[in-house]
Amino acid sequence: MLLVVLEHDRGAMDEAAREALTFGRSLAAQMGMPLHAALIGDDDTDQVVEAGAFGAEAVYTVVNDALADFGPEAWGEATAELIRRLEPGAALAGGSERGNEVMAQAAARLDLPMVANCVDVQAGGETGEWTMTRQQWGGSLLEDARLVSERPLLTTGLHTVAAERAETAASPSVEAVEIDLDPLLTRTMVKDRVVLEAGVTLSTAPVVIGGGRGVGTAEAFAPLEELAAMLGGRVGCSRAVTNNGWRPHSDQIGQTGTRITPEVYIASGISGAIQHWVGAKASKRILAINTDPEANMVVRADWAVIADLHEVIPAIAEEIKRRRA
Ligand SMILES: Cc1cc2nc3c(=O)[nH]c(=O)nc-3n(C[C@H](O)[C@H](O)[C@H](O)COP(=O)(O)OP(=O)(O)OC[C@H]3O[C@@H](n4cnc5c(N)ncnc54)[C@H](O)[C@@H]3O)c2cc1C
Repeated sequence: MLLVVLEHDRGAMDEAAREALTFGRSLAAQMGMPLHAALIGDDDTDQVVEAGAFGAEAVYTVVNDALADFGPEAWGEATAELIRRLEPGAALAGGSERGNEVMAQAAARLDLPMVANCVDVQAGGETGEWTMTRQQWGGSLLEDARLVSERPLLTTGLHTVAAERAETAASPSVEAVEIDLDPLLTRTMVKDRVVLEAGVTLSTAPVVIGGGRGVGTAEAFAPLEELAAMLGGRVGCSRAVTNNGWRPHSDQIGQTGTRITPEVYIASGISGAIQHWVGAKASKRILAINTDPEANMVVRADWAVIADLHEVIPAIAEEIKRRRA
């Protein structure tokens, strides 16, 4: 079988799990094996039915006190134990932060290879020689890899496959699996949740006003805040800004920050380094404000203003006020 580990948050299935089931369905067909799914920390019927809708013929549920909420170590060990017992031809999860962490935990515990963020996989067959194309550098680089393994652990590149239900839904068999888990594994477990602040977030904002090192100080972000408020948007920033302590890490856009998808991204005083660009490139339109006409962000943007952002940002705000009046 091909075993897909389903990502969910307290019983709510994540899109990454649907993507993994979709990817897994064609991989299982290629392997000539059935598609099975693992539901860690939950045995909710809705999730079982949904896994069936995506073609899973069997679902293994593992419920245990140590799995009361998400924890990478406990989920990793539960996944590893399922793999030990079921001996699947391969195991797969969605390439979210959680999916990659759980599979890395399981791989380390099993001493098996793990290949993250795959966009294409050719199964090993009898030789056990797998080939895969996977994303690196936040999706800006594709790597062809070869792996010899009887049982690889894989994740799919996040959002590289659209979740699609099977033409014919399966009615999966359900097997409750009892696993003893050391309570020590819960030392890295979700203990508390913060209610999302009201209004739009950086990842959902229709307009993002980004500020980089060129802004100069924490205080100089005030005009960017004012413009964002006028446009119903949010302020984001580059890592140079968070490194300087001008803004919190939650405002950082990029490879090690948030991936944004606004209608318009106004990137001011940001050079557009590749690690920033991978978080900004899904914006529908980009306006770069920069004193350097050769800056990467200027070259890649839809529109650019070559000028001092401290003059341009207030000027945009003034013009909007004038037109609204
Ligand atoms: C592993 C790794 C992960 C990383 N992850 C991220 C990440 O998630 N996000 C991220 O942003 N970076 C990330 N970085 C850092 C990245 O490589 C860059 O160093 C960073 O993005 C640069 O930030 P910046 O564009 O604000 O600064 P700079 O590169 O210094 O650019 C400043 C820009 O401002 C312009 N400017 C200066 N003054 C003005 C003015 N008055 N008006 C208009 N323009 C002006 C300059 O011409 C220049 O283009 C990462 C790096 C590594 C190694």
